[in-house]
Amino acid sequence: ATAIDLSDPEWKLKYQRDFEERFNIPHITDAFPDAEAIPSTFCLKMRSPTYINNKDRVLLKVINYSSPASAGAVCIDPDCTWIEQWVQRAGPRENIYFRPEDVKAAIVTCGGLCPGLNDVIRLIVITLEIYGVKNIVGIPFGYRGFSDKNLPEIPLSRKVVQNIHLSGGSLLGVSRGGPTVTEIVDSMEERGINMLFVLGGNGTHAGANAIHNECVKRRMKVAVVGVPKTIDNDILHMDKTFGFDTAVEEAQRAINSAYIEAHSAYHGIGVVKLMGRSSGFIAMQASLASGQVDICLIPEVPFNFHGPDGVLKHLNYLIETKGSAVVCVAEGAGQSFLENTNAKDASGNKVLGDIGVHIQQETKKYFKEIGVAADVKYIDPTYMIRAVRANASDGILCTVLGQNAVHGAFAGYSGITVGIINNHYAYLPIPEVIAYDKSVDPNSRMWHRCLTSTGQPDFL
Ligand code: ATP
Ligand code: MG
Repeated sequence: ATAIDLSDPEWKLKYQRDFEERFNIPHITDAFPDAEAIPSTFCLKMRSPTYINNKDRVLLKVINYSSPASAGAVCIDPDCTWIEQWVQRAGPRENIYFRPEDVKAAIVTCGGLCPGLNDVIRLIVITLEIYGVKNIVGIPFGYRGFSDKNLPEIPLSRKVVQNIHLSGGSLLGVSRGGPTVTEIVDSMEERGINMLFVLGGNGTHAGANAIHNECVKRRMKVAVVGVPKTIDNDILHMDKTFGFDTAVEEAQRAINSAYIEAHSAYHGIGVVKLMGRSSGFIAMQASLASGQVDICLIPEVPFNFHGPDGVLKHLNYLIETKGSAVVCVAEGAGQSFLENTNAKDASGNKVLGDIGVHIQQETKKYFKEIGVAADVKYIDPTYMIRAVRANASDGILCTVLGQNAVHGAFAGYSGITVGIINNHYAYLPIPEVIAYDKSVDPNSRMWHRCLTSTGQPDFL
């Protein structure tokens, strides 16, 4: 993004043009101007009314703030008239750039598990078959499957995927780390893959974008399309990502168990750690939904344990006044209190310390020191939540995302990802969605609703 000079009378036009350029999605014809446009038969086959026009757009920002005060931190224009930010609408196009009989499509799932992976795989395969693709394979265990000779491709068809959404996990398996981009593209060339569907988080998408660039460099006519998988809901611009709803719902069980344990014990304290490496959406939403949480701690909002305004003091107050307490903490919160081991996982992500265990230990120690009985119980439901199947609303989201991924590939787009924006589906260039992680705004109404619900003070 270019810096905005508000004194320039043309600034708004320039800003909009810059935005349009950034969100313009790459197309096969950028590298292959002579690529043949073939009329699609998809809508005819599906008795579907219309194709999406390439010029159709979805509005990214829908609020028109009346004053800088109501806009808060997001306001960049002193007059606060709005800036139009339109992104490209997803869906089937009239012209396709691949002959279905020439397509070899591959699907790969990387990173951690997330409810809905199988639902997305299922709809990609089914949609590819409707387009007439016969050659569809799964790459086993993430990017690793491209280089490990002991891992054969998994042939996919409607028959294979028909019921896979009934269970959680990924039919194809997942992994972290693995081959270099060069090795992956070598392998794609060798296998003759010309459509690649990549399901994963920011790391996986960085990989997908690099694969797309490498294909362009080698002049390979390939469509690389991502479907963002992040249970944390930390992908920019999107209303939500698949699996998030399910995670919030499933987290209710853990919170409720912690509440019952705490409530039934004498001076009981229940601690629940939920997912959220850099953003606290799951912890915030789950706390709000449950109404059983007294203290919600997220990475975006700093807090103190000790001291007169710390978490421990408030726990003591809750024990004195209510007799029990429930703490819900996001895994990325309070990392500054933990020893930094500099450990990295296979993909190069920082290994976080266990804040849940830390809270449990510090709480026990504190109550022992002040001579008050306290019964502290810690629940980490992470892997139980990650492994469940998608709920109905995520299942539907996965269906639409999977279908639109295939439409995008056939339309000749590459280096793109698909998401839901203001209730419409859109294609976005990968670099724009992985520029940084979306996080909870500590000044947002939602976070303040969460504080209203828990009744917690500022722990500073
Ligand atoms: P999660 O949200 O579960 O962490 P993720 O996609 O971020 O999902 P990672 O383990 O970070 O998960 O990355 C998945 C895959 O992407 C790994 O195989 C890793 O090697 C690859 N990858 C990560 N970052 C990059 C990058 N910058 N360039 C190329 N490949 C990458
Ligand atoms: Mg990641």
